[in-house]
Amino acid sequence: MRKTLLVSFFSLLTAALAQNSAKPAHAPAVAPRPSSAAFAAMETINPERIRAHVRFLSHDLLEGRGTGQRGGDIAAEYIATQFAVYGLKPGGDNGTYMQRVPMVGITPMPETTFSIAPSSGAPVNLKVLDDYVAYDQTQQPQSDIDAPIVYVGYGIYAPEYKWDDYKDADVKGKVLLMLVNEPPSEDAKFFKGKALTYYGRWTYKYEEAARRGALAVLLIHQTDMASYPWDVVRNSNSGEKSYLKLDGTPKLKAAAWIQFEVADRLAKSAGLNLGKMMTEAQSREFKPLGLPAKLQAHLVSKIRPFESNNVIGLLPGGDAKLKSEAVMFTAHYDHLGVRPDMPGDNIYNGANDNATGCGVLLELARAFSQSTEKPRRSIIFASVTAEEQGLLGSEYLGKHPPFPAGKITLDLNYDDLPPLGSPEEVEVSGAERTTFYKTVEATAKDFRLVIRPDAHPEAGHFYRSDHFSLARVGIPAFSVNEGIKYKGHDEAWGLKQDEEYNQKHYHQPSDEYHPMMDFTGDATMARFGFLLGWQASSMPQLVGWEKGDEFEGARLKGSQ
Ligand SMILES: [Zn+2]
Repeated sequence: MRKTLLVSFFSLLTAALAQNSAKPAHAPAVAPRPSSAAFAAMETINPERIRAHVRFLSHDLLEGRGTGQRGGDIAAEYIATQFAVYGLKPGGDNGTYMQRVPMVGITPMPETTFSIAPSSGAPVNLKVLDDYVAYDQTQQPQSDIDAPIVYVGYGIYAPEYKWDDYKDADVKGKVLLMLVNEPPSEDAKFFKGKALTYYGRWTYKYEEAARRGALAVLLIHQTDMASYPWDVVRNSNSGEKSYLKLDGTPKLKAAAWIQFEVADRLAKSAGLNLGKMMTEAQSREFKPLGLPAKLQAHLVSKIRPFESNNVIGLLPGGDAKLKSEAVMFTAHYDHLGVRPDMPGDNIYNGANDNATGCGVLLELARAFSQSTEKPRRSIIFASVTAEEQGLLGSEYLGKHPPFPAGKITLDLNYDDLPPLGSPEEVEVSGAERTTFYKTVEATAKDFRLVIRPDAHPEAGHFYRSDHFSLARVGIPAFSVNEGIKYKGHDEAWGLKQDEEYNQKHYHQPSDEYHPMMDFTGDATMARFGFLLGWQASSMPQLVGWEKGDEFEGARLKGSQ
């Protein structure tokens, strides 16, 4: 295995040098080729070192690396220790590698009541989990709501698509009833066609409503629009949920989902037709519609403050001017911890998810820090916490980056890289939206990796991993992962592995380390990311989002 790797990278190096000497007179849109010192550093990336990190981080002794738990803290200490061994500078609080992330766990209590009161007739009490789920984002032990309900269609304000569901309506102090997803479209220029944009995610809808001073949001659940059944909403909204501690951002007293039938009944009682209301929301002419009903709710929550750390190491750049800018690498170290009430094996080891990404991040940190030549821009290595709680560690990192967001040229994220052998494909979904894509394409070609497009852009996977937290503050960011096709196997084999992992091991105690795991592919992804990072560190310009992209505005704001 090792031998083939060396041969192929020797030929890669020769090819690169040859291309260097045959540079065209005009500046190409791709980054300058990395130096031979950079290639030499890249070649030291070793699958067996990644294995060693994965084996340790997913050991039973680490108790599933739960956020705010002992095992998670040990993982953070382990990563910080490796950073120190490599000679990285601390990038956390007070000269340490640790960036403290304050969080709270919120559990809705049984005393909570939630009812819809029509302007005439008796209020209808809703049954928690069957009819609705709701969390009090204001993090208060008790909140009361008694406010009129306004239907706002998709609840989207997207000037770049000339779309405004709110029009001039004042929704301050109101309860907003809205649809999930976004207006359906086949036109790539309108809400990215079939692909889901951030406007379609429920997180956006809550944020936009809160920004406008609304008290609560009732999202209408409909299986085909949400792309998951009510059971998924129900299961992921029962029990404790974690949030970043309040930081002044406006929040909702009730961030809620209601069953389609509940919304249907509400519309009928107002003499309206929900189907018709949903069709009307697909038009630009749509206007918010006040309903003759109120939401009357009393929310009681258990509030549990806790904290955990992001682990940050810095490699100062070698260029006196460019070192004030940086390339960032990220990988979450947290997983699901232990379920003490579960019989049998109850440790969620998270070997694939995401000890593999941490192993890659650590090997990248080692290779960069031991390179004989320094990259021109600085490099940030950040292993983040609380990804499984809703990207909270990376959200905090995005809001408190070690370099100003406008000076971070690129974030490459690693999450869940299957140790299945030598990949012939790479997934970089989102990269095509950045000005870095030509470099990504050229580098993939050098590695003889075919770029595999996102198979389900309508599912919005781009918004469910840590790179998204950095994209939102404007940093061009995407995840690097293997595709489906591996050397010596056909595509069907790869699909079968993927399916088996998703069905049997994803977020299960059986996501464990096995000695027969083959980390060749993880090393290839690390080498690929190493070269991308090196090139991003030496380009004359910072990377940006393509014109008209939904994150372009945040980027421009950050660079002022
Ligand atoms: Zn993960």
